[in-house]
Amino acid sequence: MGIKAKKMFGQNFLKDSSVLHQIIQSMPEDSPNALVEIGPGLGDLTQWLLQKRGVVAYEVDTDLCAYLNERFAKERKTEQFVLHQGDVLARWEKQETLATKPYDLVANLPYYIATAIILRALRDTQCQSLRVMVQKEVAQKFAAAPKEKHFGALGILAQLLGHVEVLFDVPPHAFEPPPKVTSSVLWIQKRREYVGGEHGVFKNEAQRDAFERYLRMAFSAPRKRWLKNMTLGFEKTLLASLLEEQALSLNSRPHEIDTATHHHLFKQLTKVNDYVRNEQQQQ
Ligand code: SAM
Repeated sequence: MGIKAKKMFGQNFLKDSSVLHQIIQSMPEDSPNALVEIGPGLGDLTQWLLQKRGVVAYEVDTDLCAYLNERFAKERKTEQFVLHQGDVLARWEKQETLATKPYDLVANLPYYIATAIILRALRDTQCQSLRVMVQKEVAQKFAAAPKEKHFGALGILAQLLGHVEVLFDVPPHAFEPPPKVTSSVLWIQKRREYVGGEHGVFKNEAQRDAFERYLRMAFSAPRKRWLKNMTLGFEKTLLASLLEEQALSLNSRPHEIDTATHHHLFKQLTKVNDYVRNEQQQQ
C-alpha cells in the first residue's frame, strides 16, 4: 500500500475488524438517510459502510484521496461513493450542510478536531445522527449526566438535541499506529434542532449563540458555585431568586444543574436582564 500515517492529520487507522463490525452492528437496519463519513483514510470503515448504503466522504489528505479513488473506482462510477477532497471544517464554513438530504454521520474522527466537528455536526440541520470514534474523555464529556465529573457545556449542547450515549470503548492496539489514549464510540441521536422547524430549541441563531455565552459564564470556574460564576454579568439578588424559584440551593455548582434547568435559567436571564442581548448587539 505504501502510505504512511501522517500525524498532522490525526491519522490512526482502525485495523481491528471486530471493532469495525461493532460500529456497523450499532447502526439501524432501515434508515432512509444518506451516509456521510469524515476522514475515510484507507477506506476500511468505508468498505463496510458501502455494504449498507451509498457514502459521501470528506478527506483532507490528497494521497489518501488518490488511494481511495482507486480502491473504490467501481463505486465511484455508480456514484455509490462520492469523495470530496479538503478540510471538512472549511467546507462547513462555506456551506451549511455536508449533504443535500438528511444524513447519518459515521466516522473515526481525527482527534485534534473531533470536538469542533461534533459541535458543527450538531448545528447541521441535515445531520440526523452521529456514530463517531473519539478520545474516551471527549465522549464522556458529551454523554455525561448532571452531577457527573465530566458534565458541562459539551454535554448540555448535545443533550438539548436528543439522546447521547457512549456505545463502547476501543483500546489503542485496535489502531495503526496506536494512539496514546483509549477511544470510545459516541452515539448522538437528534430528536430536535437548535433552530428551525416546529420544535427548535432556540428562536434563532443569535439566541443559540447567546446560550453558548451563558454556558461559558456558568462554567467559567466549574468547581465554583453557579451563583458566583454568574455574578460576572448579573445581579446577585436576581440570581439567588432564580435559583430559589427552581428549588435549587444557592450553593449549587454548575455541573449539578441539569440541562433543562440551565436552558430555563438562560431564558429567564435574557428576559429580565439585557446582558446577553447587549453583548449580542455589540458583535
Ligand atoms: N476512517 C479511517 C479509519 O478508520 O481507519 C481513518 C481515521 S483517522 C483517525 C482520521 C482521518 O481524518 C484521516 O484519514 C485524516 O486524513 C482525516 N482528516 C484529518 N483532518 C481532516 C479534515 N480537516 N477534514 C477531513 N478529513 C480529515
